[in-house]
Amino acid sequence: MEMKIRATACLKALATGDAIGKQSEMLSHNDVLHWYPQGIRGFQGSPDRIIPRYLGNANREWRIGETTDDTEQTIAVARAILRDRNVLHHSVGRELLQCKKSIHAGVKSMWTFKQIVDPCRVATDGDGCGAAMRVSPVGILYSSGRFDDLVKGAYEASIPTHGGQLAICAAAAVAAAVSVALDGGSATDVLKSSVRAAQMAEILQPSVNAVTMASAIQKMHDDLSGWRELKANDIARIYFPDRPQTKVPLAISLAIITQSVEDTILLASNIGGDADSVASIGGAIAGALNPESVNQDWFNVVNTVNNDDLPKTAHALAALRN
Ligand SMILES: [Mg+2]
Repeated sequence: MEMKIRATACLKALATGDAIGKQSEMLSHNDVLHWYPQGIRGFQGSPDRIIPRYLGNANREWRIGETTDDTEQTIAVARAILRDRNVLHHSVGRELLQCKKSIHAGVKSMWTFKQIVDPCRVATDGDGCGAAMRVSPVGILYSSGRFDDLVKGAYEASIPTHGGQLAICAAAAVAAAVSVALDGGSATDVLKSSVRAAQMAEILQPSVNAVTMASAIQKMHDDLSGWRELKANDIARIYFPDRPQTKVPLAISLAIITQSVEDTILLASNIGGDADSVASIGGAIAGALNPESVNQDWFNVVNTVNNDDLPKTAHALAALRN
């Protein structure tokens, strides 16, 4: 299959997961059921209308179909890469300084970065999934044969805001997963590569933390892949995505096990927690693995509401690959 098709599916799914997941972001699983008694089955309402639960929200009244910081920062990383044909942290930093979504004290890593106003900043902490959520362009730029560059590129894209080991390793895992999937790798290849990349990235930021991202990904995948059926309420009980050790491992596991953009996005959205990031990261990997599983109707909503021309960005990145 043509690289451009997979790369386009990757970014379409990333933005779609972001927008659908936003409907239930930060909700407990019970609160997801309170707001959406039938479960989330796509966009719950008319495009461009305010999502009911965000009516009167002080930070932003998010609209149905609107993408969030996940997509905004992914596009920022893509812009830096397209300018430099490389991944350079100060250049990524320059683009991230232009970002406007979810810039408030509640999102500490990005908030601190925006206060310092230094594109060359190298963060020494920050373990959320904010780096992993924006590294898909790194996975599109470098083919899976350039494994060292994938890990280094993920590091460069992370450190303006996220310097913690878990964040850097999660970013490396996602960049590698996207890259291997784009090369037509199997789901097993994608899992192995993401774990390997996370392990390789550990030396870039040593940590005393007993949990590593590599072990968290492997462990969650090994468990969930043995389940007879993936149900949102069961997953929410055991692996609720409200911490670094569960968010990215869940996104990767859902993508690999379902091999479906739609299933990954709906499961992540119905689980709750950091639903937009899990759906976005998982969607990106699933889209690269299985482009046919992108829901074009959902993407049409995203495209109409946000008008980002993601296919154009995907094509430009894919043209630089290798
Ligand atoms: Mg977000």
